[in-house]
Amino acid sequence: MKLEHYIGGAHVPSVSGATFATLEPATNTEYATVAAGDAQDVEAAVAAARTAFTEGPWPRMPAAERAAVLRRIGAAIESRDDRIAAIECRDTGLPITQARGQAHRAAQNFRFFADVITTLGENVYRVASAQLNYVVRKPVGVAGLITPWNTPFMLETWKLAPALAAGCPVVLKPAEWSPLSAGLLPEIMEEAGLPTGVFNIVHGIGEEAGAALVAHPDVPVISFTGETGTGQIIMRSAAAHLKTLSMELGGKSPLVVFDDADLERALDAAVFGVFSLNGERCTASSRVLVQDTIYDTFVARLAERAARVRVGSPDDPATELGALIHPEHYARVMDYVRVGMEEGARLVAGGEPPTGLPGGNFLSATVFADVTPEMRIFQEEIFGPVVCVTPFSTEEEAVRLANATRYGLAAYLWTNDLRRTHRMTQVIEAGMLWVNSQNVRDLRTPFGGVKASGLGREGGHHSIDVYTESHIVHVAT
Ligand code: NAD
Repeated sequence: MKLEHYIGGAHVPSVSGATFATLEPATNTEYATVAAGDAQDVEAAVAAARTAFTEGPWPRMPAAERAAVLRRIGAAIESRDDRIAAIECRDTGLPITQARGQAHRAAQNFRFFADVITTLGENVYRVASAQLNYVVRKPVGVAGLITPWNTPFMLETWKLAPALAAGCPVVLKPAEWSPLSAGLLPEIMEEAGLPTGVFNIVHGIGEEAGAALVAHPDVPVISFTGETGTGQIIMRSAAAHLKTLSMELGGKSPLVVFDDADLERALDAAVFGVFSLNGERCTASSRVLVQDTIYDTFVARLAERAARVRVGSPDDPATELGALIHPEHYARVMDYVRVGMEEGARLVAGGEPPTGLPGGNFLSATVFADVTPEMRIFQEEIFGPVVCVTPFSTEEEAVRLANATRYGLAAYLWTNDLRRTHRMTQVIEAGMLWVNSQNVRDLRTPFGGVKASGLGREGGHHSIDVYTESHIVHVAT
């Protein structure tokens, strides 16, 4: 299998001829050769996108016409649901049943932003009869989109849909560990009738292709999802051109359970929150904080549930936890398991690869109890099926523990005390809070984190804000 860049409507190899190989996580065998882009390929892609911006119809098209194209993109994705899911399952090691959900959500992203732009208003401010001030939104220019390897197709479309909806041509740089599903996007865009040059892909290693995109002077906005450390590097480089940045970064989200909560549902949410999507989820509830009165029971039941999570081949519909993305990432996750034990945390489930699975990056659902805040496994994002459980006694202590990391992406609160709920939602440092609920998204709402988890918000009109500039016109009347 061979994958090339897509620039100005054509599939092209790298100017340098360089390629890299991708691995299948379930076996760690090489199965695709991908063009490895550098600054020359980025230059060509940005030039194509820039021409589409300055001369093409896309930024000037009425919103309703752009929306019609976006809806056709959604339909083209939906008609390839099974193919997208199969590719995603093979390329990322996601269980096939969960990969299907990703393809469905990708189509929804386009339909949703089609609706957003057809209902978006612009503001008018009247100063009695003396002045009329009105706001005009304009697409900002070529958008650089840089995406991670977890749920790649869904996250690519989460950026593509609003950028295109806003009228911006794009250059997408998919993650090098999971580039395959992006290979379907060119035919999807062509089938939907997106004008040539509006959608471009440059594959490649982040430090080469990604860095060149961030440094390019004709790309005024970068939307990035990935690790906090990479986000910091990108911010430094983008500062040279004062670019607009949207940063969706790492997390270490707490799930806080009080003894008045519905324990059965809290357990369901804890298991779903950290073991679905192989634990490779930015909003994973990777720290579970449990009130001491129910701590022992909760730990025992969580361990029992974890032991029942079915680890297996990603393409088996019975599999609940597949193969982690890459041997390098797997080694990192396994290292955290070792660190957890050395730090004195109590391993109550998992910690090892399950038996009977040859090769591949498999790890059983892993639960550490008695984790304390100074431990590395409490502080650092593991990004795998590993959860830390920590006891607390009072509400104040729960808040202190919830806020005791550098991250602030999501938080999950389980209690039936209404007043406590409202007190805690005010003081927990997280961009997104779910109360008595697992992670369910409403695409209209702001998505993003505080502290080291990100900068800015996407979702609904927040996404459109990223890809447009608001101009104010003051008219004396
Ligand atoms: P990563 O930061 O290693 O890579 C993300 C992307 O950035 C890749 O395409 C990579 O090639 C590129 N990149 C790497 N170095 C670059 C550079 N110097 N300049 C420009 N681009 C560069 O992240 P990852 O390991 O692919 O993804 C996992 C991380 O993403 C986790 O930390 C996770 O929490 C985070 N994440 C966050 C969200 C969110 O919405 N907050 C969603 C999903 C994943």
